[in-house]
Amino acid sequence: MGIDVVQFARALDYAAMKHVRQRRKGEAKEPYLNHLAEVAALLAEATGGEDVNLVIAGLLHDCIEDQGVTYDELVALFGADVAGLVRDVTDDTTLLKAERKRLQVEQTPHKSGRVKMLKIADKTSNLRALAVSPPSGWDEQRKREYYAWAQAVVAGCRGVNAFLEAKFDEAFLNGQR
Ligand code: ZN
Repeated sequence: MGIDVVQFARALDYAAMKHVRQRRKGEAKEPYLNHLAEVAALLAEATGGEDVNLVIAGLLHDCIEDQGVTYDELVALFGADVAGLVRDVTDDTTLLKAERKRLQVEQTPHKSGRVKMLKIADKTSNLRALAVSPPSGWDEQRKREYYAWAQAVVAGCRGVNAFLEAKFDEAFLNGQR
């Protein structure tokens, strides 16, 4: 327990440093750390605090994709389990956006249960943000397409955690109003 809290705090500090200049895409331009904290909190609640590595992966889940952190660096700092979880939710950034989105729908059903939980938490946070602070320049059509895509990715994650699925469904319905 003591070591878990130390690891969690180290990951929080690391994520805050790595994403220090990154903002969310919405008009409110919230610090990116808000997204990471929200994903980590969803995972902590979903697992009753029993899977600290998954919560830590929630804090770190975008640092390879967005900040160029390497898998090896994550292994060295947080261990192979956390690094593997992050790698499994990292898109191949050499591919075009549309292809990356298509691959998420196609590949997510074959991922582990914990990776699926991370995916649901991530998409839930993104849909919540889109509802309260959509990116400037996004029309209704673009928002609808994002909702539909998130729904398709989460469809491949169902059956792993009822709490997270309920949170996602709630965010989805709120965004449809
Ligand atoms: Zn994310």
